[in-house]
Amino acid sequence: MTQLTCPVDQATLEDSKTSGEESSKCPECDGIWLSTTAMESLEDNAANDDMVKGQRKYGKHEVDHLCPHCGNAMVRFRYRGFNLEIEACPSDVGFWLDKSEDREIRDVMKRRGSNLNRAVSAEKSWHKTRRGEKLGVFQRVKQLLGFD
Ligand SMILES: [Zn+2]
Ligand SMILES: [Zn+2]
Repeated sequence: MTQLTCPVDQATLEDSKTSGEESSKCPECDGIWLSTTAMESLEDNAANDDMVKGQRKYGKHEVDHLCPHCGNAMVRFRYRGFNLEIEACPSDVGFWLDKSEDREIRDVMKRRGSNLNRAVSAEKSWHKTRRGEKLGVFQRVKQLLGFD
């Protein structure tokens, strides 16, 4: 197997697990490289079908970081329209997440999953609910995805 290099500090990435998926982790900055297959599997486990149907990349722009896999400039984007930026290989081989982004991405999935279930029963009292913060996130996502 080829050695992967951290796009931020050029350290050699080490084999790791992210939520049970094979990944490569930087020993210096704790950034994580996830293959697209691992990312999809993570989404299958953490999110529900409605979430995975949507577009993954919003507001794409190139960044200086080079893809550990192919060496081309990676693309930074807002993950599924959330206020969460991660980077991806321009050929969609994998994704680069810094440590906090990795944690956030799972939070985003969990929030969205639980809010979808809650939203079904809470649909009619949507605006009256006191769970403002959590539903607010979901509502923003719905608007971003054009569901509203
Ligand atoms: Zn690093
Ligand atoms: Zn690449």
